[in-house]
Amino acid sequence: MAFSSPADHSLFISDIHLCEQRPDISQAFVEFCTRQATKASHLYILGDLCDAWLGDDDNSPLAELLQQQLLMLSKGGVKVFIMVGNRDFLMGNEFSKACNCELLPDPSVIKLYDQSILLMHGDSMCTADKEYMSFRKIIRDPAMQQTLLNKPLSERRAIATMLREKSRSANATKAEDIMDVTASEVTKAFDQHGVDVLIHGHTHRPAVHHIQSTDEIKLKRYVLGDWDSKGWYIKAQQNQISLHSFEF
Ligand code: MN
Repeated sequence: MAFSSPADHSLFISDIHLCEQRPDISQAFVEFCTRQATKASHLYILGDLCDAWLGDDDNSPLAELLQQQLLMLSKGGVKVFIMVGNRDFLMGNEFSKACNCELLPDPSVIKLYDQSILLMHGDSMCTADKEYMSFRKIIRDPAMQQTLLNKPLSERRAIATMLREKSRSANATKAEDIMDVTASEVTKAFDQHGVDVLIHGHTHRPAVHHIQSTDEIKLKRYVLGDWDSKGWYIKAQQNQISLHSFEF
């Protein structure tokens, strides 16, 4: 029988950037799953869960750890959804099936506690960064993704390292504001999907933005933070959505 209680809630995370170089982040993620996510009814992962994802055939210790955690949640009755980001765009059906999770397209509108919520990774709204937008077009092309997946794992690993270096050096010289969302793109997203609430990550600028649209309509944009020295999550329950951080 389906029922809901006041304690029912859903959690949202993004930009964990799990990688072998940061065992402290992996540890924080495991703790978050075991202590917090197990109590939620739904967990929405909004992109860049991993700093890189070489393909669902990757059998690295990190990929195994991730699968183990997500399976633990789904077996415990938590419904887990995964949206990919610009780092883990090669995460696909095979992995989500193995973890008993559901892949979510970007963008997606979900209905939660009588409210429609728009979910995005966030990078599609960063249109001022022209260089990044053309790169995004390439990596989001299914044919290009298949070409990548056909390469041996070792070659994909080398490409991922190269891309990461390239992104790091390019971002170091970019003006702060071009790496944030473009205001008009945010408005467009609200209009297109007819929602009052948007949750996304990617920009690493955790905040709750209140946007006055008309006298009656107030739009809210919740931005998740990346897990670096702190972890971030959003909790949604009946009549309340809140942004939280914790030390690790
Ligand atoms: Mn991202």
